[in-house]
Amino acid sequence: MSWGFERGRVYNRRADIHGRFGGQQQGGIITPSKHKLVIIITGEEGLEHGYADRQRPDGVFEYFGEGQVGNMTMQRGNAAVANHSTNGASLLLFRKTPAGLRFEDEYVYDAHHFEKAPDRLGNMRDAIVFELRPVAAVVEKVEEMAPASPDLSELRRRAFAAANATPGKSKSTASVFERSRDVRDYVVARAKGRCEGCAQSAPFVRANGVPYLEPHHIRRLTDGGPDDPRFMIALCPNCHRRVHSGADGSQYNGQLLASMKAIEA
Ligand SMILES: [Zn+2]
Ligand SMILES: [Zn+2]
Repeated sequence: MSWGFERGRVYNRRADIHGRFGGQQQGGIITPSKHKLVIIITGEEGLEHGYADRQRPDGVFEYFGEGQVGNMTMQRGNAAVANHSTNGASLLLFRKTPAGLRFEDEYVYDAHHFEKAPDRLGNMRDAIVFELRPVAAVVEKVEEMAPASPDLSELRRRAFAAANATPGKSKSTASVFERSRDVRDYVVARAKGRCEGCAQSAPFVRANGVPYLEPHHIRRLTDGGPDDPRFMIALCPNCHRRVHSGADGSQYNGQLLASMKAIEA
């Protein structure tokens, strides 16, 4: 479940997306102004012009940006996709089907490149192709990655560098896995073995000697991918489950957000 959407289920764009979140009624990228959410739709314009979004064997989903005529530019919807992590927004992919929009998965922006592709008038132009990874794959891989560095100030420097990485270049130097790991490692090290929610000691120590705490993204409904360390908190498993599953979860999340001002000045 991501934002109440179930994978593989078909939704009505008007009722289930615009009815709940607002956002642009036209086009393949929806950026509701009142929610930390970017919704992208595949299977739309590209096909009739001779190109289409595609699934790469390495797990990356390649998604063509928006812009009907001329070169695509990193503005509006395209910028929202590239910057969703920095902005704390979730990125949800839907596929257009005859019955409606099928929810595919929640993704994380990794990189983008430019490709020659025809525009609506049939002229070749530079198209932006986003390289997206399923958020679950990022979480799983980062979980397996060893801590980056034992030095807190070095971790902090890397975490803020990862959070502020501007996707202006065609290829960012660090992968989304490395950036996500850097932010995680810093946030966990910052906690110094105590849950930043309830202040209890971590319940146990990992095999590598690091106290077990879980990184939580305060601005998103799901965790995964890099985020600004000012909006990430290290929680014990109890506090973490409380935020995501508790009756007072969103209230507790608001409390954590308020406490971040003291944790990360
Ligand atoms: Zn706790
Ligand atoms: Zn969480």
